[in-house]
Amino acid sequence: MVKIISDIGYCQGVQKAIDKLLNCSKMGKKVYLTHPLLHNLKENEKLMEKSHATFVDKELTIQDGYLVLSAHGHPLEEEDFIQDKSYIVDATCPLILNRYQLLKEEKEDTTYLFVGKENHQETLGFLSHFPFLTFIDSQKDLKTQLDAIPLKKNVFFLPQTTISQKCVNFVRDYLNQKEVNILSFLGICPLYEKRMKDASSYCEHLDQSNSFFIVCGDTLSSNAQELYHAIKEKNPSLQGAISLSIANMDISLLKGKDIYITSATSASKETVEKLFEDCLHLQA
Ligand code: SF4
Repeated sequence: MVKIISDIGYCQGVQKAIDKLLNCSKMGKKVYLTHPLLHNLKENEKLMEKSHATFVDKELTIQDGYLVLSAHGHPLEEEDFIQDKSYIVDATCPLILNRYQLLKEEKEDTTYLFVGKENHQETLGFLSHFPFLTFIDSQKDLKTQLDAIPLKKNVFFLPQTTISQKCVNFVRDYLNQKEVNILSFLGICPLYEKRMKDASSYCEHLDQSNSFFIVCGDTLSSNAQELYHAIKEKNPSLQGAISLSIANMDISLLKGKDIYITSATSASKETVEKLFEDCLHLQA
């Protein structure tokens, strides 16, 4: 049996960014990217081919073209590549832009905490736009980092939209034990959270001896990695993999097993469906 166990395909943020890129390619000017538009190098490559986009040359500034900036946000210096700001096409996800709005006014009596993965495009974007944010690395010991921060009377917390729920819960519990006023405590992306919950609850009781799960996504994708870990957390002995196709998987692990598929938010519906079909053929 092969089964899809959650929503699949691009999330709205990634889909919007792709639409912007493809629209720019119809405008008769060159299209540039500073960074992959989505965290899926294979699909990013296909999109760049389709839109005739190229990565910007660091030695040049763009005078006649569109610079499309990543769906996850961007550090401000990426805007320096162009001379006329009107050519910037900001493809940052609306959910992330809403969070930018909430941070517009810094208050003296407030500590602003951002927890995320170091060097992730979203983290780099937030820290560059709002230098007053105190960064907490989600992949290092959270308590040690939090203990070192002199918290002000008020705390505003926001996480990278695709880190683990466990990490967010840890910070919430930590702050609840402190004598601080939590002004705002934002969660992870609801769409990604739903996908993670659906897939991990489905896998929780699967029989490890005859089941295998696949997160359809790029191994470099933050949300693919988190989806994988969320499932492993619920069912540690269940075997699984992150992959965009069975071509780069050890087929012997799949033979004779029921296969359960979920998808990162940066894998297209077509890619997941192809993976599904290939798994079915494998079992035929
Ligand atoms: S996962 Fe959520 S926050 Fe991230 S790009 Fe998609 S919709 Fe936006």
